[in-house]
Amino acid sequence: MLQLALKVLKEINSHGYEAYIVGGFVRDRILNIESKDIDIATNATPKQIKEIFDDGFLPTEDYGSVRVIKNGVLFEITTFRREINYVDHRRPDKILYVNDLYEDLLRRDFTINALCMDEDGNIIDLLGGRIDLDNKIIKTIGNAEERFEEDCLRILRAVRIATSLNFKLDESVIEGIKKTKHLLRKLSYYRKKSELDRIFVSNNNMYGVKLLLDLGLDVELELDRLKDIKHIDSSITAWSILNVTDKYPFSSNELELIKNVNKVLSLNNFDPMALYKYGLYVNSIAGDIKGLNKKEITESYAALTIHSKSDLAIECSDITKALDKKPDKYLSDIYDDIIYNILYRKLANNKEDILKYVVEKYKD
Ligand code: ATP
Ligand code: MG
Repeated sequence: MLQLALKVLKEINSHGYEAYIVGGFVRDRILNIESKDIDIATNATPKQIKEIFDDGFLPTEDYGSVRVIKNGVLFEITTFRREINYVDHRRPDKILYVNDLYEDLLRRDFTINALCMDEDGNIIDLLGGRIDLDNKIIKTIGNAEERFEEDCLRILRAVRIATSLNFKLDESVIEGIKKTKHLLRKLSYYRKKSELDRIFVSNNNMYGVKLLLDLGLDVELELDRLKDIKHIDSSITAWSILNVTDKYPFSSNELELIKNVNKVLSLNNFDPMALYKYGLYVNSIAGDIKGLNKKEITESYAALTIHSKSDLAIECSDITKALDKKPDKYLSDIYDDIIYNILYRKLANNKEDILKYVVEKYKD
């Protein structure tokens, strides 16, 4: 990935422009962490970049930065810029292209995110990011309070990056957050959710939860139950406890999982019908929240007499034949009844026993 990135830099440089890898990729590479995508800063304009990379992979332009995909790797190529007049404590009103890397770095959020790499792989450290990286500390570029005031998403980025790297927040960052955290009330729930998701999926997620609580961000983020979280297996675990589906945006799949976890939470532990109906994943999350033993849940699930309708020893036609009736809606009630009795071991899962039960109970 690095070789590919250096090739992209050389390509831009060969057209007479400056270009550097910047941000997450450089930071993560020094820390020996894999990056998903690569950010490049350049003095070439988006139009000039598009001309260079117009080789079949159609570059797309978005907010003045060009996205190029090479060998499956996403490059986000952004022209050196100054950001002017932040609106709503989030987006700049205007951007101004500049010709100077240093000035571009000044608009970035944290010192560790302003490290660069040139086409030969040399690290360029104009803002002291390297020492902060070595000391495992998050510091803003410039005055923390002002930088959070400009763009309050940086508050959550600070917590998220500290969580995923297991870094400390600098004292000035903590103070800056305390003074500006009320601005998070205005940040879109979509933005908040995506940063929180990244905190929850981190291996170090409980450190992130502690930071959020220590800073009082649970109040600003309207996460009243954050303090109830003891450990997090998956982001669904956290969101099921937090119970904020009325405010935060979720995909329909997430909503379904959260709803089902909460249903299982209100049922008895290891209930066969809950295991059957909601499956192992939802039951494991609910069990995790209740502090149940994961192995016991997995074993109880494995020990179910049936796991789906297709495990039943009879088919529809067996029932209709035995009852001498045409198939209709009544069948689903009969199925529910059979499944219930088999799950609770009141009825054996073999054709003879099931048909005997059906005929005795349902034959007119
Ligand atoms: P990751 O890709 O792992 O989330 P990253 O640091 O690369 O981490 P990106 O969101 O890809 O984060 O942003 C790329 C770079 O752009 C950052 O490293 C930082 O220099 C700058 N940046 C991103 N968001 C902001 C922001 N809200 N304010 C200031 N600079 C930012
Ligand atoms: Mg990035």
